[in-house]
Amino acid sequence: MATGHLHIDLDAVAANWQALDALSGPTVETGACVKADGYGLGAGRVAHRLAQAGARRFFVAAAEEGAALRQSLGRGPEICVFSGHMEGDTALIRDHALTPLLNSIDQMLRHVEALPGHAFGIQLDTGMNRLGMEPAEWASLREVAEQQGPSMVMSHLACADEPEHPMNAQQLQTFLDLTRGLGCPLSLAATGGTLLGPALHFDITRPGIGLYGGLPFAKARPVVTLDLPVIQTRSLAPGETVGYANAFTATRPTRIATIAAGYADGLIRAAGPSARVFHDDTPCPVVGRISMDLITVDVTHLSEEPAALTILNARQTVDQLASAAGTIGYEILTSLGARYTRHYS
Ligand SMILES: *Cc1c(COP(=O)(O)O)cnc(C)c1O
Repeated sequence: MATGHLHIDLDAVAANWQALDALSGPTVETGACVKADGYGLGAGRVAHRLAQAGARRFFVAAAEEGAALRQSLGRGPEICVFSGHMEGDTALIRDHALTPLLNSIDQMLRHVEALPGHAFGIQLDTGMNRLGMEPAEWASLREVAEQQGPSMVMSHLACADEPEHPMNAQQLQTFLDLTRGLGCPLSLAATGGTLLGPALHFDITRPGIGLYGGLPFAKARPVVTLDLPVIQTRSLAPGETVGYANAFTATRPTRIATIAAGYADGLIRAAGPSARVFHDDTPCPVVGRISMDLITVDVTHLSEEPAALTILNARQTVDQLASAAGTIGYEILTSLGARYTRHYS
């Protein structure tokens, strides 16, 4: 079989959720962000395991994701939608009991007209200028919104992965100013904010990446292992080259293994020159260019012919592979390919 094996450790996801939950006081609810199909790992499987661990509130990007998640979770847990109530979302929101996080006056009007009495939350912009009501918009709407009883009011931090960044204090102050006197649950922290300490926790935290083993949660348990089968191994004489553009030239007798995955499987081409794969604990350098479905690896130093090589494990985490490609762990996770055979434990 020439497809990679992606192993997803759901117990590690649950342990990461519990560890983040333990960082905030007993009155703070820890939610779980499972947008983009659970950061590529399967929103239904991840959320089901987290619900067993005690998570009661899940966050997705779009109503369609919320509808699919409701099928996996059943009635009970709250499913909040960051994009709010978009045109065309009404039936999904109603039929799957979703909670849109309303981002503008237009969304607020759409929601109360289409689904009077249906749950909603409010997303405020506190300086990131991406999603949420602006302070002036919120001022004109706050009284009406309060009468309707929002299930939460939230905002999002732009620089929470940099603890010393002045933007954190600035956004905190803006959020405090905008929510003073409100009687509903408040939420400001994703993974980064949760790690910054209690001042940012409010009533609900919304970690995503930390659940999946990614930075900035440095103490996270790794969640994914990715093993790639070796299709062929060959011997090169000095001077022979490997792959597109002859990007690698052997300088000594060399054994090259060709493994079954490439940039079409989310193994970003730019990672090539500094990525490694592992045979048990032995690192093997990727050589030549990563191509669409194949990666070539120098295995000269191995004492046996490997049947498979591992590209993600505790020794090379999503963040290490990401930095080899000049990107972030989030992008590696959410790019994990559809061709892998997935195993959950
Ligand atoms: C993605 C997202 C989160 C989760 O962020 P992480 O950095 O993955 O913990 C929380 N809130 C909002 C609004 C988001 O977009």
